[in-house]
Amino acid sequence: MALLVLKFGGTSVADLERIRAAAAHVKREVDAGNQCAVVVSAMGHQTDQLVTWTREAASLHDAREYDVVVSSGEQVTCGLLAIVLQAMGIPARSWLGWQIPIRTDDAHGAARILNIETDELKQRLQRGEVAVVPGFQGLSPDNRVTTLGRGGSDTSAVALAAALGAERCDIYTDVDGIYTGDPRIVPQARRMEKISYEEMLETASLGAKVLQTRSVQLAMVHQVRLLVRSSFEPADALPADGIQAGTLVCDEDEIVEQQVVSGIAYTKDEAKVTLIRVEDKPGVAARVFGPLADANINVDMIVQNVSGDGQTTDLTFTVAAVDLERALEVIKSVKGEIGYEDLRGSTDIVKVSVIGVGMRSHAGVASQMFRALSEKGINIEAISTSEIKISVLIDAAYAELAVRTLHSLYGLDSA
Ligand code: ADP
Ligand code: ASP
Ligand code: MG
Repeated sequence: MALLVLKFGGTSVADLERIRAAAAHVKREVDAGNQCAVVVSAMGHQTDQLVTWTREAASLHDAREYDVVVSSGEQVTCGLLAIVLQAMGIPARSWLGWQIPIRTDDAHGAARILNIETDELKQRLQRGEVAVVPGFQGLSPDNRVTTLGRGGSDTSAVALAAALGAERCDIYTDVDGIYTGDPRIVPQARRMEKISYEEMLETASLGAKVLQTRSVQLAMVHQVRLLVRSSFEPADALPADGIQAGTLVCDEDEIVEQQVVSGIAYTKDEAKVTLIRVEDKPGVAARVFGPLADANINVDMIVQNVSGDGQTTDLTFTVAAVDLERALEVIKSVKGEIGYEDLRGSTDIVKVSVIGVGMRSHAGVASQMFRALSEKGINIEAISTSEIKISVLIDAAYAELAVRTLHSLYGLDSA
């Protein structure tokens, strides 16, 4: 008998039929004698709709009211799942974020979980009651509803698993695990049996939205074993222990065979800013990036090229696409201090990354990557690296070609 946290994402609870299928997975675990806390997302694309409504109501709006609106999708699902479980004869009740409570900071729209009260939850779980908890929501220090950022139900689930000391956190979704590339654009992608926390962290933060980045960080810190698995597999088709093929996110030393490159990720969520003919003198970088940091705009990749005359440079950097307009405004407002000739912004770019802990001990991964891309006529506009990843910025039109090319290059294609 174990304590498990089961999380069901949007597509896994998109309608009543899907909610019943999710309930069948919960029932299987309950019947096997496990204590279950279930975390649910909003139904289907409900959160997108709620976000749109807040924008239509007023383009600039109070973030606290945004959270009141967008957190509501999860409330509906958790009530419905509790009703369905009860109808199946399983004792269950819903717990809203504020009822538990799930305490967060006050960063509305992107709050961080600080603490989860678990005494009563634990007592009821021990008595065999299933706790159904809405993902994504929490409660600020001044008792306002908060949300954890898009995709935040993964983080709710991991945080709850850590707080309850759960044996495992099962992330039920619309794919049966973590693949070597996004299966939507790489048909040859293979499911990994295991992936290390570190690789998963890079994979998530470099664009694979299969798990929210923060949830992987939390899982790594609290050593929560995460199993990413499919909710579309019929519950009764599984072995009695309920463990089906999925991907376990775990410590690196649990993985026997390590590939040099374990996967390819990409993101279209970045935008490029170029300052043309910036004077090449000390202090320029500080004058550009200081004001951006003051405006809370994160800069990712940076490239500086000396221009033909040797006196000026072109400076290119990337920011989150949602920050592009603000970044351009900030740079324009300090044009006098920086001194540049022209300013350009573009979202027609994509960042493609290769990831693998094996890169720590293998040379040549980057040069192979650059050669393969150049052979396909793909121009690299910027490069960034860490110990276990290499990212390149390329024209968005080549995104799929680049991802598939690299996927084959590193021997990841399924046979
Ligand atoms: P949920 O609604 O369950 O939270 P998400 O849509 O957030 O599900 O995440 C699942 C999706 O993540 C998959 O449908 C898949 O297209 C995408 N994805 C991107 N990269 C990967 C990857 N490397 N492995 C598996 N899925 C991936
Ligand atoms: N419903 C929220 C979203 O769509 C949270 C989640 O599903 O993880 O972002
Ligand atoms: Mg998700």
